[in-house]
Amino acid sequence: MTNRLKTDVAIVGFGPTGATLANLLAECGITVTVIEREAAMYHLPRAVHFDGECMRVFQAAGIADDLSKRVLQNPGMRFVSPEGDMLLDWPRPQGIGPQGWFTSYRLHQPDLETLLRQKLATRPGVTVLTQTEVVEAIDHGDHVLLACRDRETGDAVSVQASYVVGCDGARSTIRGAIGSAMDDLGFEERWLVIDMLLKRDRPDLGDHSVQYCDPERPMTYCRAPRNRRRWEITVHPDESDAEVTDPDRIWGYLARWLTPEDAGLERSAVYTFRSMVAQSWRKGRILIAGDAAHLTPPFMGQGMCAGIRDAANLAWKLALCVKGLATPDLLDSYQAERAPNARAFIETAMRLGGLINALDADSALEMAQPGNAGKARMQTIAPPLGPHDLTGWAATETPHKGQLFCQPRLSSGSPMDDVSGYAPILILRDAPPQGFDQSLPYVTGVGHPEIIAALDDLETNAVLLRPDRYIAATACTEKDIATLAAIPFPSPLNGKA
Ligand SMILES: Cc1cc2nc3c(=O)[nH]c(=O)nc-3n(C[C@H](O)[C@H](O)[C@H](O)COP(=O)(O)OP(=O)(O)OC[C@H]3O[C@@H](n4cnc5c(N)ncnc54)[C@H](O)[C@@H]3O)c2cc1C
Repeated sequence: MTNRLKTDVAIVGFGPTGATLANLLAECGITVTVIEREAAMYHLPRAVHFDGECMRVFQAAGIADDLSKRVLQNPGMRFVSPEGDMLLDWPRPQGIGPQGWFTSYRLHQPDLETLLRQKLATRPGVTVLTQTEVVEAIDHGDHVLLACRDRETGDAVSVQASYVVGCDGARSTIRGAIGSAMDDLGFEERWLVIDMLLKRDRPDLGDHSVQYCDPERPMTYCRAPRNRRRWEITVHPDESDAEVTDPDRIWGYLARWLTPEDAGLERSAVYTFRSMVAQSWRKGRILIAGDAAHLTPPFMGQGMCAGIRDAANLAWKLALCVKGLATPDLLDSYQAERAPNARAFIETAMRLGGLINALDADSALEMAQPGNAGKARMQTIAPPLGPHDLTGWAATETPHKGQLFCQPRLSSGSPMDDVSGYAPILILRDAPPQGFDQSLPYVTGVGHPEIIAALDDLETNAVLLRPDRYIAATACTEKDIATLAAIPFPSPLNGKA
């Protein structure tokens, strides 16, 4: 028997990308159906790091306060030689950073996914089909039909959606449905990932991540929340997965840090880390996001983060299209903006991977961030979005367009994003210009020193921010501010039930 479900947006895959996207779309008040092949969430650790920008997306998705209780602030990463000498330091600023959150966090990925799922369960208009596999996606021009199979009963299930987003991971069925190949950026290495559960406190292991740049066998140590600790170890080409995951071998690798009295093995697995970007992220009404669109070597802890950024970039655009507040060409901006940003992270992660084999600080740093040799300190990167004119709104080039804006606190202590929610906002140094249409949420610098400081940093007097907190346009003169304030940037929250 075939059941047909109708929905505004169908999301294939309930990993972190799909769950974040579903929350943001539901926040906009449109109907969402998530289809997930597995019965339960993947419970073993994968990502152990995310950044302040992603925490800001989780703020928009409504889980940041709960999440911040389950994560740790990340002090940074150190690259050390086989003798233990520091080659390169990558400290993360302590204290609240520009995004209104810490700049870098340690997490247990299932904690994040649990919170995203719990939040989604409280939202109206959301259907989640687990144990349901999407086998085919056909774009009929005015809608997409997904053919699915209930894996428990074997029944066929059909989902009709205005748009479909494949958040279905590295082996994406939906990427196949749009016929997109992957561009291989050239990194491929097998790494053994070992997750340990400490039986007793071991503060001597430290809170920093450590990259052991041993050309014989590069290794990484990561602190994760609670009693979890991670080691990642290079696998040589002549070693089989079975050999390196043998428990005796594992305890041998870890002997310099741990014995079975200290910790138990939670899991070990060999992953092949790759660097890839899909050639096409959209065809008609079908799109892809997260690992379906790009794969990142893990050295910067940015793979999942890229998927979270995809979700933040895409949700408001889809919501506007579904509500008829924008035409589908807006969706052309998605790949144009996101792909260069994702690529910049992947290329930096590849250089960091190369660096683990480098033996002196200068060549290591030159490899990590060309032009910086001799400084022995790495900076966090913040690549802008790729260029694209959003049809109709803020089409003119202004300084800082496509850059992520910070999140100042208002004098009341509230973070700025809470003023507008996941919607555009105008930031003005002074009182609004005459005739300003107050349907667009706005904040001014009057009485809010952090807003003035943020505008000073950009040497501007007004900023129009998109719902994803990237800059749509800036203005300095009274005339340009009036033009900026008159831009009819629609809100994806409009029309919300
Ligand atoms: C060892 C390791 C360490 C990592 N460390 C970090 C880190 O520190 N920081 C970081 O940012 N990232 C890290 N990553 C990457 C991160 O885990 C992934 O990028 C992230 O899980 C991708 O999320 P996703 O939602 O795009 O895809 P996935 O998490 O892969 O989810 C895809 C979902 O789609 C479902 N699915 C697939 N096909 C279908 C279908 N046909 N029908 C229905 N459902 C389907 C799958 O069952 C799955 O649940 C790490 C990864 C690994 C393996």
